[in-house]
Amino acid sequence: MLKKMINSAQIDFEIIPVDPLLIKSGQATVGGVDMSFVRTYRFGEKEEPFIPGSSLKGMIRSYSEKICRSLRDDPVPVCLPYLKPGKEQNGERRQASCGLSFERYKKDHEVKTIPSPEIYSLSCPVCRLFGSHGFIGRLSFSDAYLTGDYKKSHLLEIRDGVAIDRLTGGAASGAKYDLEVLTRGEFGTTLDIRNFERWQLGLIALVLRDMEQGLVRVGFGKSRGLGKFRAKITNFKIAYYNRKVSHLSGLSELCSEEENDDYGFSAETGDKSPLPESEPNGLRHEHTITETWKEVLTPGVNDLVKFIETTDWPEPLERFLERGR
Ligand SMILES: [Zn+2]
Repeated sequence: MLKKMINSAQIDFEIIPVDPLLIKSGQATVGGVDMSFVRTYRFGEKEEPFIPGSSLKGMIRSYSEKICRSLRDDPVPVCLPYLKPGKEQNGERRQASCGLSFERYKKDHEVKTIPSPEIYSLSCPVCRLFGSHGFIGRLSFSDAYLTGDYKKSHLLEIRDGVAIDRLTGGAASGAKYDLEVLTRGEFGTTLDIRNFERWQLGLIALVLRDMEQGLVRVGFGKSRGLGKFRAKITNFKIAYYNRKVSHLSGLSELCSEEENDDYGFSAETGDKSPLPESEPNGLRHEHTITETWKEVLTPGVNDLVKFIETTDWPEPLERFLERGR
């Protein structure tokens, strides 16, 4: 991706559980529980439950895919990240993974790398933001840790998994198993986005809004009455590097024509929203939009709708794969 810093966004938020949560540990079980909550040692203190940044990224990615799919049916505007090209089943037509398509190209053509502007311009909207194999994307999450008093007063309980399945009508196997769920505790985390296009902030804004309203679930057992939470945005900052900007603008506005051609940034719609006065912070000019982010990011949402409706993806990726075969 671009080797210079142009803009960034930083969003601090809290995760306030509504239902019990279970973020599964990959580790061997604690005290005979079949599925236990993931824990970490922080600062050499007592072990505590936490939510890994990778779980949060996965949650926001799959919700972003749903939003994009709801904006266009045919062709579907995003890939299925685990679907190998050539292995498409019914209903998966033209949705092969961007990252696995690049892997296939490299193998077929015996090349080690594909230039990152090309990867970016050939990727589906979601991979452009979240990355894929061999391309790290623009977005990073910190692990979410218990906030304030919850470090001491959080509560983990053992639940009978079969009983949960019976209550929710899920497919019960009948075999007894236990789940360790968090029933009290709130978490805080930070989402960072570097070098954003305006539509990308629009997409994140739509996810955050639904997270505030408790429509997004996290972790294990989403269909079993687990994982519902509400997000509370506690700090939202947008920064521009070494330049003052008065309106929300993204890469297509701030980059040269050549960079726009190389990366295929999506042109911004004419909508403008003024940013509040910035505060200098080193080379950065920071705008705080904690109270106003929904209004400020509205042009980004309009850009997203237009981009998804008009993008010719997956056609360029398909043409690329066929090139010279
Ligand atoms: Zn993709």
